[in-house]
Amino acid sequence: MKFISTRGAEKVTGAEVVLKGIAANGGLYVPEKFPAVTEGELDEMCEMSYAERVAKIISKFFPEFNGEELLHACEEAYSKFGVADAAPLVRLDDGVYMLELFHGTTCSYKDMSTVTLACLAEKATDKNKLLLTDSAESGKSAMEIFKDRENYSVLAFYPTENISKMQKLQLGIQDGSNVLSVAVKGSADDCQNAVKDAFLNEEIKSASEGKTCPVIVNSLNFGVIVPQIAYYFSAYLDLLSSEQIEKGEEVDFCVPCGNFSNAVSAYYAKKIGLPIRRIHCAVNDNNALADFFKSGEYDAQRELLKTTSPSMDTLFSANFERVLFEISGRDYRLISKRMTALREEGKFTITEEELKQINEIFDCGSATEETCVEAMYDVFVDTGYTMDTHTGCAMKVAVDWFEKNKKDETKMVIVAVANPYKFPQDVLYAVTGNDVKDSFKGIKRLHAATAMAVPKCLKDLRDKPLRFTLSIDKKKVPEEILNYIK
Ligand SMILES: *Cc1c(COP(=O)(O)O)cnc(C)c1O
Repeated sequence: MKFISTRGAEKVTGAEVVLKGIAANGGLYVPEKFPAVTEGELDEMCEMSYAERVAKIISKFFPEFNGEELLHACEEAYSKFGVADAAPLVRLDDGVYMLELFHGTTCSYKDMSTVTLACLAEKATDKNKLLLTDSAESGKSAMEIFKDRENYSVLAFYPTENISKMQKLQLGIQDGSNVLSVAVKGSADDCQNAVKDAFLNEEIKSASEGKTCPVIVNSLNFGVIVPQIAYYFSAYLDLLSSEQIEKGEEVDFCVPCGNFSNAVSAYYAKKIGLPIRRIHCAVNDNNALADFFKSGEYDAQRELLKTTSPSMDTLFSANFERVLFEISGRDYRLISKRMTALREEGKFTITEEELKQINEIFDCGSATEETCVEAMYDVFVDTGYTMDTHTGCAMKVAVDWFEKNKKDETKMVIVAVANPYKFPQDVLYAVTGNDVKDSFKGIKRLHAATAMAVPKCLKDLRDKPLRFTLSIDKKKVPEEILNYIK
């Protein structure tokens, strides 16, 4: 299968997609033609394990990779999660389910795709791979999964602004001889842009023609998107095999959104044949996307607000470019023009027809700090279920949908993206109203309040020495990468 860029000019192989991550002109890779999952295949997948389902979906997009090897790699990857089912579906209420994606090694949903990106990169080149990440969650996930692994090293960049203490500790204490985490002064958007620009930088490109190949492991890489498509299938198949839905019945998903990689994965799942009716997107106070879905004008000229759901603090949901590409009839010139406008003027506008198409599939709601807490509290009191703050935003949006659509009987799956203990103080505050100053005290109190098991990877943080404390200006990112390649 070949891939093209949303901004034109390139046609590349699956291996190149994984290794290049983003097109030279800044565009995102998308399949030239979408594969299809038939009803018969869906039936077959019902009987499969999670790893088999993921391997099946990956092979649809990357048929050139050996199926058996892929399956073996997926089985190995997900067996490290330490739970029988890597993506369990939990029933919350009549017709409402939580898709828990936080049972991986680092407790965030990034683990679901980092593990499989590895086997794709392995297949794509036999050079040493330098994995570059640009956010707290993807950085931790890549370091933990690839530590001490031959032929790999990890350089994890993450923003200094607005990351939680647990996230920072997770990045700072990481063990392994081949990993390094580096804080980049500024916001999440600053860090992401700095890493992306460095990755496309000519000097780095030519330096990496040697024996080390940099690979960008962020939510823009299509190799990250594909395994995410798989968990939407898996959730649906679990509903089907537990007889919660009938064959062919459509379901809704509600997804917390930052860069939109998770939501675009749901969109692609629908595109290749999964019966999804609507995708409800949730944002926090950084609600440019919600406004865009109403007006058709994307206006990123606003202040980036700090919230208690930091992984959703962004001014532009970069993966939305992939949706725009499809609904514009794959008009790459138009996409390039809009992305240039966004960069230069901070905004762009789509047509009414395009907005209509978006609204047929998507809606987007926002949670304020207050309404997020309220939604988390209500669910905790009513059902005993505890969720993290990012998932809390999605819960708020789902509840709003239920209130406005009382007669709607479509089943709703809410995507739970992080373990609540990753944000212990905020979650404790939401469910009990108690404010504590220290994260570990937060963990202790949260455990007392919920009796939920504390994941070992978070409990252990307390006793480990801090290894990495380097903090650099964003201009120094290319230099840091070059040092590592040489
Ligand atoms: C990465 C992340 C998000 C944002 O996901 P996108 O796919 O970028 O929209 C939300 N919540 C958590 C906990 C995350 O780690």
